Amino acid sequence: MLSVDDIHVHYGASVHAVQGLSLQVGEGELVSVIGQNGAGKSTVLKAVMGVVPTASGRITFDGVEVGASGFSSVKQRMSYVPESRGIFAGLTVGENLRLGAIVRKDRKLVEADIERELERFPVLRRYWDRGASLLSGGEQQQLAIARALMLRPRLLVLDEPTLGLAPIVVDLIFDVVEQLRAEGMTILLVEQNAVRALEVADRSYVVQAPGRVLGEGTATELAAQPDVVDHLGFTP
Ligand code: ATP
Repeated sequence: MLSVDDIHVHYGASVHAVQGLSLQVGEGELVSVIGQNGAGKSTVLKAVMGVVPTASGRITFDGVEVGASGFSSVKQRMSYVPESRGIFAGLTVGENLRLGAIVRKDRKLVEADIERELERFPVLRRYWDRGASLLSGGEQQQLAIARALMLRPRLLVLDEPTLGLAPIVVDLIFDVVEQLRAEGMTILLVEQNAVRALEVADRSYVVQAPGRVLGEGTATELAAQPDVVDHLGFTP
């Protein structure tokens, strides 16, 4: 479904952040990307979403090349929750949530989906009329994910959704990710919490600076790769 093939990404003339990385995500799969800070994980997601250009290589989603003329991640129903979350601070929780569905015409289904997300994230119902800037970091992350889901995405791309959050919220976010996987959602997840990411994912890619894949596979497969175990500092 998503195919990233030998991509290179540069920032300016001096930073070659991703150097020949490939990865695949199949329909209904939950794939995680783990690796140390600065390894290039976020950059890969930005390239997938067409936010940063690739210098070479190819990224396709359902056969359509990302960045090609006419490509639109929204049209392709790819939803992206960036590390910064992208919440509109000046709007209420409800307004933020509705914005996630702004391109949809099926208004009745949108209402049903809002209800479904409020059930999934009860805190958003409680704070529906509250300014989004008043939410805690964990609440904002829940809003960001709920808003991304309002597109009815065919691919959900999450960048470090648990970064800096309290353990109880980390558990909640991982529960939601598991729930979405059980619902059949296709997910590409970048996580700094390698233990949890390996547990929750069908397959994982271990990425090493500068933007190269050190190993790929299920947790069991990765556990059998000495380079990977050495790099992670634990056996998956
Ligand atoms: P982190 O977990 O810290 O976000 P990461 O694995 O996601 O790390 P990236 O954010 O993709 O890594 O960064 C990869 C490399 O590219 C790093 O060396 C980083 O300093 C550099 N980089 C990222 N964004 C920019 C930018 N806008 N301009 C210049 N260099 C950048």
